[in-house]
This record gives sequence, structure tokens and C-alpha cells, in this order.
Amino acid sequence: MSAPAFAFDNSYARDLPGFWAAVQPAPAPEPRLLHLNCELAEELGLDPAALSGPAGAALFAGNALPAGAQPIAQVYAGHQFGGFSPQLGDGRALLLGELIDREGRRRDIAFKGSGPTPFSRRGDGKAAVGPMLRELLIGEAMHALGIPTTRALAVAATGEPVWRESVLPGAVLTRVAASHLRVGTFQYFAARGEHDRVRQLADYAIARHDPALAGDPDRHALLLHAVAQRQAALVARWMEVGFIHGVMNTDNMTLSGETIDYGPCAFLEAYQPEAVFSSIDHQGRYAYRNQPVIARWNLARFAETLLPLIDDDADAAVARAMTVLDAFPDWLEAHLRVARLMRLGLPAPATAADPADLALLDDWLGLLQSQRVDHTLGWRRLADAAEGQAALLQALFAEPASLAPWLARWRARCAVVDGGQTSPAAAAARAAAMRRHSPWIIARNHRVEEALAAASDHDDLGPLQALLQALREPFEERPGREHLAEPAPSEVTAAYRTFCGT
Ligand code: AMP
Ligand code: MG
Repeated sequence: MSAPAFAFDNSYARDLPGFWAAVQPAPAPEPRLLHLNCELAEELGLDPAALSGPAGAALFAGNALPAGAQPIAQVYAGHQFGGFSPQLGDGRALLLGELIDREGRRRDIAFKGSGPTPFSRRGDGKAAVGPMLRELLIGEAMHALGIPTTRALAVAATGEPVWRESVLPGAVLTRVAASHLRVGTFQYFAARGEHDRVRQLADYAIARHDPALAGDPDRHALLLHAVAQRQAALVARWMEVGFIHGVMNTDNMTLSGETIDYGPCAFLEAYQPEAVFSSIDHQGRYAYRNQPVIARWNLARFAETLLPLIDDDADAAVARAMTVLDAFPDWLEAHLRVARLMRLGLPAPATAADPADLALLDDWLGLLQSQRVDHTLGWRRLADAAEGQAALLQALFAEPASLAPWLARWRARCAVVDGGQTSPAAAAARAAAMRRHSPWIIARNHRVEEALAAASDHDDLGPLQALLQALREPFEERPGREHLAEPAPSEVTAAYRTFCGT
């Protein structure tokens, strides 16, 4: 069986010797393809037909690598829950190589769960079906919401059991990423005092993600600036849709600005800013509302690695980095404010929003919180209210009467924006625009768990396929999907815990 062709061009392996270890994937006894992402395959210039069937199963389980693949485990460090681990690295992942996609973008093709590497520490290098399908589901959900993310090209079952708290079926995820450069990659070399290697890595990152900066004497400070801008945009989108990453360690923060690692992530149901679902996040470090602060903390760790490159004078380097770190919260807040004003159907200038509109926004968020309104449906049903139908929105409130005063203010403001009086046509246009920003379908925690349990425990991929299809059209209200749009009973959400997908 000859493996399908990938036009690999492996710059990380070629340009950065000393930053990785060559490792072959472990063989899988009984490979079986659980999912092939045909749309993504085509985006990568690959032929989905050649990637399905037994050839695809062998490829995506790691048994038959495509020609030109050069599997490497990347080394990195990272702050995990605030504590520094000087060596983490790909303990169960391998970069196979890079492809230039149809749009001319360089994309990493990597395995996760493909066996031990020199960086496995005490781990087995393996992954289970459930957590790898979770990466597929949430990655596709984020992508459909327009949020930068790594994505699953395929998930293959290995036919091998993996031992966790119970025995689980094993799987390999094939992950596509703009790159796997992490804050932690820089930390590894900086912590060892290998500043020449930090420089090499930074210049590689610039060539890959910010080529306009190449050759600029100030490029390392500008790299920090660019990464911080991407993270501000990214984390604002997380906040907007109620996504809780769950494990924002510095090794899980990319330079590309893509979301990576869907281990213990979850979505808000009722709007509770203090929400945290991860079973190991006892202090709530990575709670929903802390994400902007943690992103800045991680960027500060990134900045530290770059200081010797930014300026020979340590004080000057710190001052330069601080201009970025000081601006970061405002960048993030501005993105989020614009997104939320658009969801309110109000004008959304990047700067100098109307103070009355900001007060409306604050009061709306306050109501969502105090009335324990489902975050996703609250915003979505506000679009119906723009057309005069407030009953469904009101029904989401613990005390339905508490909506009326705010709604009256909001309607008055919409009328002013529309030039004094809202016509049915203007109302319909506003509602349609709001629905383009506020999804009906998110990856509800209980539906994700159901789909994963069916796949992992009963080998039934039906619920997963149905959920995936709905997640790919998050803004469409299609009959038959109501159960996917509805929140879980509040006691289910109160007891919901996520686990790091090891
Ligand atoms: P994560 O929580 O997935 O970001 O992983 C943190 C670190 O633990 C990374 O270095 C992983 O490669 C490593 N790791 C997680 N699970 C395993 C495993 N089963 N075997 C080996 N290494 C692992
Ligand atoms: Mg990770």
C-alpha cells in the first residue's frame, strides 16, 4: 500500500537543528479511521479520496507515513499553573512536516497520541479516542465561529488500549496548525541562557508569521507587539463566545494566535464570569473572567525571553516590552467591546463608543449575570427582540419582569440609531446582522460529552457526526437541532468537570 503524497517542505526540521528530536510514531495494531476532515484536506491541497479507506487509516494511525514526512518531537518548556517546568516538549506529539496550503499558507501537520518521545517523562505518549475526538469537535466549532484555531485533519483509532483511570480505546489525532511555536518554546532556550537560539527561534517565527518584520533592527520588540495583538484578538473572541480554555499554560499559547489544546476546555452556559470547569484548576486561575489577565501574564513570560534581543540595555528593553504589555488589556477590551456592541445591534466604533451605549452594554451583561441567563441564547434571542419578539428572551430570565426596563432603553437607542423611528425593514436588518454575530449553536458541554461517550464507549459515531454538522453551521436555526441549542439543566452544569485530555 503506497502512502498518499503530501508536498512537504519541512522548514522547522531544516532550519532549526537542535530544537527537536527525530522520532518515529509507534505502530498501531488495528488502525481505523474515525473521521477525515474532507474540507480541510482540500484546503491543504490533498485528495480526500486518497486519504480515506485503509490507506488513510494506516496513514493517520502512524503506520504508513506519507513520503517526505520527517517526524520530529519539538522541545519546549512552560509555566503550568504558574510554576515553571524547564522541560516539557512533545511528549505524545510529532510534527510530520509542513505543507503550503491552497491559499499559500504554511501549515504544520502533526500527530498527537502517536507514542513516546524523549520528552514523554512518565507518560505513555498515547491518547484516547474521546479526548482526540474532542479536539476535532471543539476545533471545528471554533473554526465555524471564525475563531483562529488548530484543526483536526483526521482522527484514527489505533486498536490499542490506553490505561488511564480506566482502560480506553487509543487514538491518534492529526492536527493542522499555522505553526506549533509556543511561548514555552522560547522559554526552554531562554531558561538555559541560550540566547543565540532564542534569536534563531525569533527570526524563524518572524519569517513564518510576520515576514514584513524581517530585517528590521527593532524586529524582536515588534514580534512581541504582533504576538500580543494576535492574542488580544484571540482571547477577546473566546470571551465573546463564552469559551473557557481551561489550561492557559505558556506552552499552550501560540505565536500564531491560534487556539491550541482542547483538553479541559468548556463553554459557559449561564453567564457566570467566575466559571471554571477544569477538575485540576482548584484556584480558578483559568476561570472565564481571568483569561485576559492570564494572557497578559503569559505574554510577560514571552517578553522576558526576548529582552536580551530587544535591547542591550536591560532597562531600555524592559521599558520597550512594557509598552506592549501595558497596551494589551486595552487592545483586548477594545476588540471585545466592538464585538459585543455589534451583538447588541448598535454602532461599534473601535474607539470612542457612545457612553450611553457602553452603559447599555454593561447593564445587559449585569442582567445576564444576575438573572443567570444562558450566555449563548441570551444574545441570540436579543436578535428576535430586535424584531419585536421578546418572549423567548424573557423566558431565559430568572425574573422575567427584570428585562423590561433595559429592553425599553435599548429599543429607544435602536430607534435613534435608525434615525428616529425603527421601520420593520430596519428592525429586520438589525436582527439579521445580530444573528450573524450571535450563534445559535455552540459546543454545549453535555452534548460534547454525550457524543464522545457514544463514540468511545459504544463505537457509535452517529451523535458525533450530527453534532459536528450542527457546529459547522452555528448561525443557522435548523429544525431538529433544538436539543443541541438548549442549555443543560443547571444542576448538570454545576456538577460538570473537565479533565486534561491525557
Ligand atoms: P498538555 O496538558 O496536553 O498541554 O500537555 C502538557 C505536557 O505533558 C506536554 O509536554 C505533553 O506532551 C505532555 N503529555 C501529556 N500527556 C502525555 C502522555 N500521555 N504521554 C507523554 N506526555 C504527555
Ligand atoms: Mg499542550
